[in-house]
Amino acid sequence: MSDCIFCKIVQGEIPCAKIYENDQVLAFDDIHPMAPVHVIIIPKKHISTLLDVSDADNEVIVDLVSAARKIAKIKGIAEKGFRTVINCNAEGGQVVFHLHMHVLGGRKLQDELG
Ligand code: 5GP
Ligand code: ZN
Repeated sequence: MSDCIFCKIVQGEIPCAKIYENDQVLAFDDIHPMAPVHVIIIPKKHISTLLDVSDADNEVIVDLVSAARKIAKIKGIAEKGFRTVINCNAEGGQVVFHLHMHVLGGRKLQDELG
């Protein structure tokens, strides 16, 4: 998707503070963190929303969750606790229409994404 911010990050056209990467996903610090740890995990393949994950693509959700576990350990928040969030469509708070999972932690979380 030529006009997608997160596709541009995957392609290296927009810089990011990379935290983790494998063949399927890329994870980077959120540009406007809502907690001491706020990482965004994206599939490298463009999928607009959670609703657009096809049965053939279901593995992408496993890849995001697997990356979230790694990131929690990399960031040192695994034991204290953290939150994963996928916003979907306007009322779900989705602003960037490239599927992504937020990983939030580093303090006691309230309703930051609500
Ligand atoms: P959403 O509201 O769509 O679930 O979350 C999108 C997230 O992407 C927001 O937390 C926002 O701060 C983050 N974001 C938007 N543009 C950029 C960017 O260019 N770089 C980075 N690192 N994060 C971004
Ligand atoms: Zn995209």
